[in-house]
Formats: sequence, C-alpha cells, structure tokens
Amino acid sequence: MRVRKKKWAEPYMAAHPEYVVNEPEKLVGKWESRFKKSQPIHIEVGSGKGQFIIGMAKQNPDINYIGIDMQESVLAMAAQKAVEDQLDNVQLLLTDGANVDTIFAKGEVAKVYLNFSDPWPKTRHAKRRLTYKTFLQSYENILPDDNAELEFKTDNRGLFEYSLVSMNNYGMKFEMVNLDLHHSSEEVLEKNVETEYEQKFKVKGPIYKIVAQFTK
Ligand code: SAH
Repeated sequence: MRVRKKKWAEPYMAAHPEYVVNEPEKLVGKWESRFKKSQPIHIEVGSGKGQFIIGMAKQNPDINYIGIDMQESVLAMAAQKAVEDQLDNVQLLLTDGANVDTIFAKGEVAKVYLNFSDPWPKTRHAKRRLTYKTFLQSYENILPDDNAELEFKTDNRGLFEYSLVSMNNYGMKFEMVNLDLHHSSEEVLEKNVETEYEQKFKVKGPIYKIVAQFTK
C-alpha cells in the first residue's frame, strides 16, 4: 500500500544517518560495523512504519535488526521510533527488497522476515510478490547454508496460499504453518511482536504464519 508522500521524511532521514543507511552497497560484508555489538543480523523486507522491527529490537537486544522498505514516508516513521527509543541494534534502509543480494554478503544475514507484504492479487503482477521465486533466490543468497530461515505473516489468504506453493516449489522445508496465529497458545502469543497491519487485521479474520528453511 502506498502512503502519501511526507515532506518531512527526506530531511528527517538525512538528519539521522546513525539510523538510516546511505550507500548500502559499500557495506557488503561489513554490516557489523553499523552496530554497537557484533551479533546476528535479522532483516525485515517491507518493514513499513517499523513497529515490528523496533519491537523485535527491544525484545531481543542480542540480535541486530535491519528494516528495509522502498517507501521513504514509512521508513521515516520507523526512523522516528528508533530515534525516540535510542536503540543501538536497529538500522533502516531505503531500497527495493529485490536488491538484498547486492547489499549483503552470503551468510551475512541470519534470518529474513516478511510481514503483511503487498498481495499483488493479479496474476500478471505475481513477480512483484515478495515470495516470488526471484525474491526467494535473493534471500537465499544472503542467508547461511545451514539454518537459513524465513518467517512470513499475512492476513491475505491468496498471498498465503501462493507463498506456500512458491516456497514448496523452491524446495524449502516448512517448520511451522499456522492458520490462525491469534488463537495459538499463550506461549506463542507472548513472544509474537505485532506489526501495524497485524493489529489492524487480527480482529477481522485469521492471521497466517509460515516458518520455512532453505535447504541445500
Ligand atoms: N510490515 C508492515 C508493513 C506492511 S505493508 C506491517 O506489517 O505493518 C507492505 C510494505 O512493504 C509497504 O511499506 C511497502 O512499501 C513495502 N514493500 C513492498 N514491496 C517492497 C519491496 N520490493 N521492497 C521493499 N519494500 C517493499
């Protein structure tokens, strides 16, 4: 979904280079240098206004997080949250998720999250879905050979079904498929960090979740 352009977004991001990464191509293999502590890096592609990535960073101080979105106006809102909380384990990046394998080295990212990705319901737009095979390929290119995990949540039944098939055809192994995340055990829900879309849509119908691994 596109958000109206916000005039303040560009200057705000330019004023916060400690959180918003410029020239990410120069950081290939060196992302560690952007963080205070050297620890695993997890990314979210399509991080939107940042509630998930910021919530995860607070919940898990021993992981470094990078939120990636191609819309300036939402990424700037994520930057605001990072600034407010003064987090040292979050970075934000304005780019197309299709490019991740030109920005990270093989194995540099330990886990990839996709949350409430745009469904692109028309068949002719299938290539734009973040679980289309070319996107899966670029995630695989930056994850390690072992334990290469992808987590995906959506409220969109069509995108959920498509993603199951796409991941299966790609040869991925499913660790978990949840057809109604918000009616899961307390234990699961306690750890679940909700996204903006999730908060909005969990009252309207089921939220689907997939955890899958790339296999060699
Ligand atoms: N994850 C958030 C936002 C979901 S909306 C939430 O759950 O609340 C989907 C987001 O994905 C939008 O912000 C959109 O700009 C972003 N997006 C869509 N295609 C993208 C791509 N190819 N690369 C990076 N971000 C993308």
